[in-house]
Amino acid sequence: MAKKEDLECSFCKRKKEETNLLIAGVDAHICDRCIEQAHGIVLEELQESLSVSSGSDLTVKKPNEIKEFLDQYIIGQDFAKKVMSVAVYNHYKRLGQTNLKGTDDVEIEKSNIILVGETGTGKTLIARTIARMLDVPFAIVDATVLTEAGYVGEDVETILTRLLQAADYNLEKAERGIVFIDEIDKIARKSDNPSITRDVSGEGVQQALLKLLEGAKVNVPPKGGRKHPDQKFVEVNTKDILFIAGGAFSGIDKLIGKRLNMQAVGYSASISDDKVDQENILQYVIPSDLKSFGLIPEIIGRLPVLAYLKPLDHAALRSILTEPKNALIKQYKKLFEIDGIDLTIDEKALDYIVDKAVEYKLGARGLRSLCEEILTDAMFELPGAEETKLRVTKKYAEEKLSKSTIKKLKAVS
Ligand code: ADP
Repeated sequence: MAKKEDLECSFCKRKKEETNLLIAGVDAHICDRCIEQAHGIVLEELQESLSVSSGSDLTVKKPNEIKEFLDQYIIGQDFAKKVMSVAVYNHYKRLGQTNLKGTDDVEIEKSNIILVGETGTGKTLIARTIARMLDVPFAIVDATVLTEAGYVGEDVETILTRLLQAADYNLEKAERGIVFIDEIDKIARKSDNPSITRDVSGEGVQQALLKLLEGAKVNVPPKGGRKHPDQKFVEVNTKDILFIAGGAFSGIDKLIGKRLNMQAVGYSASISDDKVDQENILQYVIPSDLKSFGLIPEIIGRLPVLAYLKPLDHAALRSILTEPKNALIKQYKKLFEIDGIDLTIDEKALDYIVDKAVEYKLGARGLRSLCEEILTDAMFELPGAEETKLRVTKKYAEEKLSKSTIKKLKAVS
């Protein structure tokens, strides 16, 4: 063993008496100065790795990988999934580009998206799934509650309040989040002709939304609403926020049909050559149809990516019940499993559930209400009971549904 006077720092070789403190390890020593220096290096390294990860923490998948991810959760809607995958990929590529300094002057514009499709066809689900995949904050807002500043309702800025909340008030994260504006069709102006009198509920809100969509620094009340007049505003830059708007646009099929008919008698009869698919007329939607519906051209211009979602048919609804990664039936099986009960549902019972959803025009959202109706009694009675198995036959499902509640479901549709 080294004598006391021979002790030295194994890193800088200073003798013990030249240091303020010498700490002994298994077979080495370190002095106070070396500890401080090492600490500095550790901090520097940490900071470097942090800044690298915050600059490029979005490892964006390629469009086909995004679509593959969506396929696990969303049945059908191939067109919408494809368009969305590309738009989202381009959006985050654009963010990468703005981070790279010194590149050329080509500026990629925002690719905000508008989804047209009946309610319950998966618009919100697609947007939500993309946000989950990217692990970015996601907020859903309902366009119907928005009003122009000064009117009763919520100012458009509260959209960003929601996003800030979803990001746990991390401004940097919020500024790269995704906002889903639902029911955008409900703020359409009532007629295609711009009226002289202001249309408070519709056009005014569309005007107010413009700046958010294209990218602007917006003062946002972090607590939202007008109930907290003394709160400090937070400045949110919306330039990197992806906006996805969705709406059912009910009646737009007639506008599309009218346009297609006009084209058929006019010169550009291209679609009529291939015969119009009357069953799914929404697939022919183009931006000018949205204008005819009552969206102002400026809004349409700021939502440049347009995709449609198909109405869900029997086969799609049937798949939705059992196939997605977190399909309804899988969820119920799990719920029962936690109580040690093995749930099986006959194929015929599943078909019956889908038939009812179609019959009552309840769409995918109705599948859940129907399953609840059928399984509530069992979920109430079985936990703690002797039984360890539940088999739902078509007859069982019919019996449960016939108990009055079906009228309630019908009323919802
Ligand atoms: P909307 O088009 O009105 O936004 P949602 O996305 O909210 O409809 O759909 C409602 C629910 O219906 C979803 O939570 C999901 O369970 C189910 N659903 C709708 N469409 C699909 C689909 N294409 N694939 C899987 N589930 C779907």
